[in-house]
Amino acid sequence: MQKGTIGVTTENIFPVIKKFLYSDHEIFLRELVSNAVDATQKLKALISTGEFKAEAGDLQVTITSDPDKGTITISDRGIGMTEEEVNKYINQIAFSSAGEFLDKYKDQLNNIIGHFGLGFYSSFMVSKKVEIQTLSWKEGAEPVKWSCEGSPEYQITKGKRKDRGTDIILYLDDESKDFATEAKINELLYKYCKFLPVEIVFGKDNKVINNPNPIWTKKPSDLKEEDYLNFYRELYPMQEDPLFYIHLNVDYPFNLTGVLYFPKLKDKLDISRNKIQLYCNQVFVTDSVENIVPDFLTLLHGVIDSPDIPLNVSRSYLQSDANVKKISAHITKKVADRLEEIFKNDRKNLEDKWDNLKLFIEYGMLSEEKFYDRAEKFALLKNCDDKYFSYEEYKTSIETEQTDKNKKIVYLYTTDKDEQYPFIESARNKGYDVLVFDSQLDSHFVNLLESKFKDTTFARVDSDHIDKLIQKNEISKPDLSEKEIKDISDTFESVLPEGSHYSYSIENLGENDGAILITRSEFMRRYREMAALNGGMNFYGSLPESYNITINYEHPLVKKIIGMKDEKLKSQLEDFNQKASTPEARLAEINKTISGKKDSEIETSIKDEQKSIEEGLETLKNQRKGVLSSFGKECELLKEVVDLALLANGMLKGEDLNKFIKRSLSLIK
Ligand code: ADP
Repeated sequence: MQKGTIGVTTENIFPVIKKFLYSDHEIFLRELVSNAVDATQKLKALISTGEFKAEAGDLQVTITSDPDKGTITISDRGIGMTEEEVNKYINQIAFSSAGEFLDKYKDQLNNIIGHFGLGFYSSFMVSKKVEIQTLSWKEGAEPVKWSCEGSPEYQITKGKRKDRGTDIILYLDDESKDFATEAKINELLYKYCKFLPVEIVFGKDNKVINNPNPIWTKKPSDLKEEDYLNFYRELYPMQEDPLFYIHLNVDYPFNLTGVLYFPKLKDKLDISRNKIQLYCNQVFVTDSVENIVPDFLTLLHGVIDSPDIPLNVSRSYLQSDANVKKISAHITKKVADRLEEIFKNDRKNLEDKWDNLKLFIEYGMLSEEKFYDRAEKFALLKNCDDKYFSYEEYKTSIETEQTDKNKKIVYLYTTDKDEQYPFIESARNKGYDVLVFDSQLDSHFVNLLESKFKDTTFARVDSDHIDKLIQKNEISKPDLSEKEIKDISDTFESVLPEGSHYSYSIENLGENDGAILITRSEFMRRYREMAALNGGMNFYGSLPESYNITINYEHPLVKKIIGMKDEKLKSQLEDFNQKASTPEARLAEINKTISGKKDSEIETSIKDEQKSIEEGLETLKNQRKGVLSSFGKECELLKEVVDLALLANGMLKGEDLNKFIKRSLSLIK
């Protein structure tokens, strides 16, 4: 019998391991089963080189447990270890690497999240005693027993094992006894060992619990579409079938295999993330791949397997790792390659799935410059007739019709085909085309496209009169004084819903166009939408709704309303003009004399006079507005015309809608 002290400098590493790595205790099983698989693979290698000539037997790894005694045994028929090897690999290497590990991370143990190759000594996270029974494949080897009771002392004696291979026997400590139950072991094997390359046997019926040859280890040329779909169903039993798949297969300058899937995304961004599973040589490591694949690709599903992703480092370090950067860039490129291939060879299929794919691609284009540069060649635009165009095709198709007088191409779009129907209709009557941008990323996406496309603006179809959205030539303005314009807008304002902000323009739009048009400023609306999407109410988000009111001066009803106003209020308005004319003239005079002077150079008496005139004029203005307003409120025709415009915008609701219906009925009578 040999006794010794494990070569670790740290006084006693076990309490430290237990304390710091608490949350990850369950990985012990993954580590031990991986070791058993490694030993088996090494034996297979010896068989294939001819060094091992004897009968290999069944090479499965078997796990057994006794929940009552609280033991778990991991048995393999791999290469086993001689006494010398136990000394070297277990006593020196396994434990010294534990010491090194602790030395290195002493200060930041709390920061290390995730997964590291803890190896054999992770068994002490859950065990009060660990025993190894092993027999090496080497000729004349003797069985060896090693045991250790969670202190740096170990014992080596003659072992019991009769055939080649290794048993690792864990005597679980009291808090960890649950790990010996069948349900728990099943759960852990399913999570970590599903695709290990050697058959793993567990349970009453000695069932093989894993698939040792998952498709990502095979050649793409040996696989059919159906194989990819079946594998997806195996990975995500509850999911709808995916849209497309990508097989990854790189061996230089890094090693990476895997299969990624475009899942059928619902129209929501809060899709559960963390669906790509990361493996290292078929050992499951994690399903949180942030920092390893670009953010937008975390929406994909599937498997990535790479021994070149460093796992024993903190998450924040990952991002700066050169290999990880290359891997991430490679995956992005592969995704783009595949989509471009589908665009070129299977356009119909791409169009059919576009609505489901779009959110994902837009997200990628928004967040990765490189992906944008690739995607602009295969991304599609959809118009109101559900026709799909590439960016190039669309530009060609609208260029002639939709270029305005400033040589800008105007892309019209709608965010809601039904709600904005009247506007879409008038655009189409002019021979224009309208795109559909109705997903929640689209307000960002429109900004992106506008910044990328040359000499192009995007306009939501309901943001102004169509002739102003695409201005072919100067629109003639009616010849009205500032005061007249103000009078007309004050009259209209009196019947518009309160609480919003309105800007007015009075235009000559011809007799056949509508009387008034209510639109929302493209600029303000985009800012509000982005504020909402970013979850915050910033400055723009907190402003009241703002609408543009375009009044068609040439419309017969508008003419009639203005005529009624003139007739009814003529003398009163003239009266106001009269009253205002003297103070206005005086104010102009004062402003002239003080212009260019500093505030300190102006006499106080002048300032006082200026202030009192301004106040007087303000009062007059308000009185004038009051008069116009009470006229407006009384004018049934005005109310009817404005309500019709509100109705076209879906803005007439509740009591107002009710009143409108009653009024309309009485007008018909
Ligand atoms: P790692 O697996 O990262 O090398 P471990 O601490 O898990 O580190 O194991 C140390 C060494 O012990 C292994 O490299 C291997 O040589 C040996 N070993 C562990 N488990 C077994 C086993 N089941 N059969 C044969 N050798 C083993």
